[in-house]
Amino acid sequence: KPSKRITGIVPSGKDGWEVHFAAWTRKQAGEDIIMLSVGDHDFDTPSETIEACVNAVRGSNHHYTPLPGLPRLRKAMAAASTACTGILTEPDEIIATPGGQAALYAAVQGVLDPGDHAVVVAPYYATYPNTFSAAGASFTVVETPAEDGFQPRADMIRAALKPNTRAILINTPNNPTGAVYSRERLEQLADICKEHDLWLLSDEVYWTLGGGEHISPRSLPGMAERTLVINSMSKSHGMTGWRMGWLTGPKAMIALVTDLNLVMTYGLPAFISIACAEALENHYGAKEIAERYAARRGAMLDALRGLNDVTVRGSEGGMYVMLDISTIEPDDEKFAWGLLDREKVGVMPGSSFGEAAAGHIRISLCQPELILREAALRVRRFASNYR
Ligand code: PLP
Repeated sequence: KPSKRITGIVPSGKDGWEVHFAAWTRKQAGEDIIMLSVGDHDFDTPSETIEACVNAVRGSNHHYTPLPGLPRLRKAMAAASTACTGILTEPDEIIATPGGQAALYAAVQGVLDPGDHAVVVAPYYATYPNTFSAAGASFTVVETPAEDGFQPRADMIRAALKPNTRAILINTPNNPTGAVYSRERLEQLADICKEHDLWLLSDEVYWTLGGGEHISPRSLPGMAERTLVINSMSKSHGMTGWRMGWLTGPKAMIALVTDLNLVMTYGLPAFISIACAEALENHYGAKEIAERYAARRGAMLDALRGLNDVTVRGSEGGMYVMLDISTIEPDDEKFAWGLLDREKVGVMPGSSFGEAAAGHIRISLCQPELILREAALRVRRFASNYR
């Protein structure tokens, strides 16, 4: 019989994914569907990174790598973390993991015992609840009100704390809302963590796509020793399929997570590690990718401007734009199905990401600008003639 822990890892979210799967199936069948439901790039990894990997494979980098990551890779990640978090980061404050998801898994395993509790700030990335279930921990979801631009609210987080709460998980820039948490709200969160001796798990995988200054809570006074930052090459460097991310945190915690790697991954592929180190050292594609998403976000928002009864919420960074369609149709799933059926645009209903995002649709920016503009035209037509 499988363990309770593993059978407890159940997919989260409402049926919203069905819209995505239907859009996908119809596209495969040849329909002219514009897929704006997923968060994976429409373009390949930058050619310099591919070249670096090919050279690394030819250079006989075929052996085991150290558990926390190749020294060159950790050094490059530490430099990236220094830029991301705004405080000087040493290589021994870094562990390389197979993607940001594994960094999140390691962080949750690192700070929560079975029976412990965490606060998860919503709307959130779909895997968050399951990552806590996998650690045998419970969690309370705290929504960020849409009318507040999806910013976290200290009073709501305080109200969710329990005697066994050990951690708060946040994500900025946010998936799905695109909200970039303000310094003021992050400071309030930091105060809660310090007052109640909590860890702050901060998912910053979209940090280069923020559109403005990125503020990491790790840089706030007294927070470096209680913050674990989740990072990734997936979004910033166009490398979703390479599976490379990292966790930044206090040395002692990173040393313990290294022990977890002993029993879980036993290190990462050597040639991928070298290619990632080279991509980080030389910023392969990073600036272009950030500019591309900023241009796409601008184009999408521009093309939707002035659309009656539709309000943009959040949508300051990351790879998504959130539209409040509640005055046209409060049932976001019905709206998303209608948009797919009548205008052949696949989006995610907001309610799949939690209560606060109900009445919204999430539009992914993972298509070229021209296609995004066409999609915006279709959304406009659909919303204007809604019945
Ligand atoms: N965190 C957030 C907020 C995400 O949106 C994603 C992927 O979409 C991840 C983490 C995981 O990314 P990866 O494991 O590819 O680094």
